[in-house]
Amino acid sequence: MIQNKSNRRSWLRAMLYGPAALVGLNAASSIAKGAPISPKDKIKVTKLETFVLKNSWVFVKISTDAGIVGWGEMLKDDAKACAAGALEVGDYLIGKDPRPVLHHWQAIHRGAFYRGGPIKSAISSGIDQALWDITGKCYDVPVYKLLGGPTRHSAFVYGVPDPVTGVRAMKVGPRAARQAFKYTEGKKFIDEVVERFAALRQKYGDGVDIGLDFHGAVQPTTASLLIKALEPYHPWFYEEVVQALNVDVMADLAKKTHIPLATGERIFLKWGFREILEKGAAMILQPDVNYAGGITELKVIAGMAEAYYAPLAPHNPNGPCSLAASLQIAACIPNFMVQERGDREYDLLAEPLPPVRDGYRPIPTGPGLGITIDENRIMDEVGEPREYKTQYDPDDGSVVDW
Ligand SMILES: [Mg+2]
Repeated sequence: MIQNKSNRRSWLRAMLYGPAALVGLNAASSIAKGAPISPKDKIKVTKLETFVLKNSWVFVKISTDAGIVGWGEMLKDDAKACAAGALEVGDYLIGKDPRPVLHHWQAIHRGAFYRGGPIKSAISSGIDQALWDITGKCYDVPVYKLLGGPTRHSAFVYGVPDPVTGVRAMKVGPRAARQAFKYTEGKKFIDEVVERFAALRQKYGDGVDIGLDFHGAVQPTTASLLIKALEPYHPWFYEEVVQALNVDVMADLAKKTHIPLATGERIFLKWGFREILEKGAAMILQPDVNYAGGITELKVIAGMAEAYYAPLAPHNPNGPCSLAASLQIAACIPNFMVQERGDREYDLLAEPLPPVRDGYRPIPTGPGLGITIDENRIMDEVGEPREYKTQYDPDDGSVVDW
């Protein structure tokens, strides 16, 4: 028999979210409006599932006995390895309260003897996003509120300049008739890149910020030449001017130009970004929330960057959890600069995110990551991930960076 309004609400929650929602009935008055459970209620993880999509996006779904589920996303390279690795973390996580997210991050990272690297960091990242998603949903608040935000109401984005969205920031590669295959490109190649960038600057005018992404595909000697030659056209930043495995080389190049260097999409965890900051290799950090360590770690990296007056421009060529988690970060740090891929609506959501207006994406205000994944749409896309193809210099058949 449901005696009163408070108990009736608890009973309804139990019907919706399972028996755990009945725990702590006496605390029913402390339940936030719309929150599925009270802060005093118990909740535990019951299941981890992973989904590898045909476009290589990898999702992790964590279920609880309260009926609340959380979603996260991982690295798209090595998609199947990430998915399998995340399932192994189930041995640790199943049966535990999902809400001490920082503790779980530590346990998953430090519980392993071999740490870091793209796959391990991606596994931690996807699970971290899903745990924050659950925790926010438990308390009916967006993740940024649990992390002291909001520090802003919307996030500046770059993508394709468009009068409808107001996007006025973009990024291109150093384009010539061909890619920078050679270790040291000659005058013809450099002049071609400059000519094309100058034409782009002419087309969009000075009001559009244009970043230049070398993608680690240019060797240091060529990068050095391009950096100097392109300076008069004021690129917004130079991204991944060389591969990120030798930070000293990047730091040397950074000293040769007044244009800021950006990097981070192939840097992992706080220790990777520590070296970038200490050596002055870049002033714009681009960690990816899917594999730099998740929301928990990006908040730490942002704090480290703040001490160097460096902003974050989170990398994101991925799906809806990646974008939503990045926006939660934008809303809980002071030093956010811009978000990648702000001009694309995603079709895996039950409801689309609020659209970009005047170049800014509103921060999602719903609980958790602020999105609702449509699992049926995810299932429709599950399949063999896309193959990454090695690229070659067509002149001699040698392998080149891309
Ligand atoms: Mg890039």
